[in-house]
Amino acid sequence: MRVIYVDVDTLRADHTTAYGYHRDTTPNLAALAEKSVVFERYYCSDSPCLPSRTALTSGQFGITNGVIGHFGEAARFRLDSGHGPHPQRPLLGQRLQQGGYYTAAVSMFAERHRAYHFLGNFRESIRATDQLNDEQAGEVNAVALDWIRRHAGEDDWYLHLTYWDPHTPYLAPTEYAERAAALGPAPAWPDQATIEAHAEVYGPRSALDLHYFVGPRDSSTPDTMPDAIRDRADFEKLINGFDGAILYWDEHFGHLLRTLEELGIADQTAIIVSADHGEAFGENGQYAEHGLASEPIQRVPLVVYWPGLTDRLPEAARRDNSLLYHIDLAPTICDLLDIPVPEGWQGTSFADAIRGEEIASREYLVLGHGAHSYQRAVRTRDHLYIRTFHPGAFRAEWEQCFDVTNDPHLTHDLLPESPELGARMRSLLAEWTWTYTGGPGALPDPMMTTLHIGPTYYNDPARYVAHLRATGREHLADDLEARLRAVPGATRVSWHAPDDPWPPGRHAALARRFTVKEPHT
Ligand SMILES: [Zn+2]
Repeated sequence: MRVIYVDVDTLRADHTTAYGYHRDTTPNLAALAEKSVVFERYYCSDSPCLPSRTALTSGQFGITNGVIGHFGEAARFRLDSGHGPHPQRPLLGQRLQQGGYYTAAVSMFAERHRAYHFLGNFRESIRATDQLNDEQAGEVNAVALDWIRRHAGEDDWYLHLTYWDPHTPYLAPTEYAERAAALGPAPAWPDQATIEAHAEVYGPRSALDLHYFVGPRDSSTPDTMPDAIRDRADFEKLINGFDGAILYWDEHFGHLLRTLEELGIADQTAIIVSADHGEAFGENGQYAEHGLASEPIQRVPLVVYWPGLTDRLPEAARRDNSLLYHIDLAPTICDLLDIPVPEGWQGTSFADAIRGEEIASREYLVLGHGAHSYQRAVRTRDHLYIRTFHPGAFRAEWEQCFDVTNDPHLTHDLLPESPELGARMRSLLAEWTWTYTGGPGALPDPMMTTLHIGPTYYNDPARYVAHLRATGREHLADDLEARLRAVPGATRVSWHAPDDPWPPGRHAALARRFTVKEPHT
């Protein structure tokens, strides 16, 4: 079998046609979905980009593989030693190679995120351009389609393609945002009153600090992203930019599908379409960012076309509603290819769902985020409980629980009125945590061992506090400072917490790159 894994960074499931979005943003993906299985409740165990792809291809949660964030010790993959793949914990690509598959990638992910362990998956890894950011679908396709044409006559290969278009900034030509707007009205939520209330939710990528990075910035793409979210018009511009980027990606996905048809291998090539994480558009007060362990961020699309299986299924078998992790995918792929699943992988194959059979749903999932904040969440069939361990510089509440089924925008915290629900969710989180860190052989949870530094790469809380004060938001600055002193008596000790974990020159370099208006020194 030929297998193509289509990895679309930041593709939010419910903004695609296949997941019921009222704007037809992804007609080509929808056409593929008609002969595929669409997984409705599929979640990345760890977000965002680096933890997600590390978990996906190591078959292990971040709490075990070591990568829960994007920076420092929180991003250190727990490598084994030796001269070949670890027998119990090979990377997915290593396992596929052991099974006789030629593995390749067209992806700049490893370079962009210092994820050099990711390269171990592939015999051949190609960067489509010399860019480290903002590669566009056409540039990826120029190399990917060439690779496919050269290997069309061969069997048993696995190709991982990474696309970036839905990730900010939205660089697709402006006509795509206009076309997206013409497909139907922008989502009705958040309304004007909600947007105004979000002025009290501070943080990088909050309504009033939409582009804040190491200082305040204007939009670098003013045609597709506003400077801030102050009203519905700003929100609509932002969502049109996002949807336009998805439309742009889907058009190029169509080129990929047609190339397979032209080469005569469309019915011999499995296609898996997914994302590393989704994106918030107002949920929890965050906009155009994947910085919390929240529903729109952790839930990702999964469309699996497996010729000979999914194209023969009855309609009713084409949607699966089981709670699944993305670390369940590696064992699923091995299962479908008759390759034994390694013992050290922590996921469970759901290949039976692709064969049209019933599968057991998990009772609950535990989802982690570690780049902009430190959070873990518990997702049951109806509820999402979120626990903050470090807020970064965002107004993340310490504990909240939502009825996602009836409150999809996460507006009403149930904890004050439902203490039993809170107790149950805390218990599930503790049970999961002890399962993976509480026994012989376990290494410590990297989220807990890096709390003294926190998620510092994308936001420096002290600098952001100064920014809040400089912009007249004293009460919000006070609020963030209070949150950052959450543990009574905790002291920054010199060998653990330097005053500034950023190396000399980094702020100035980032300020130049991101056109910060008033760089701090
Ligand atoms: Zn990403």
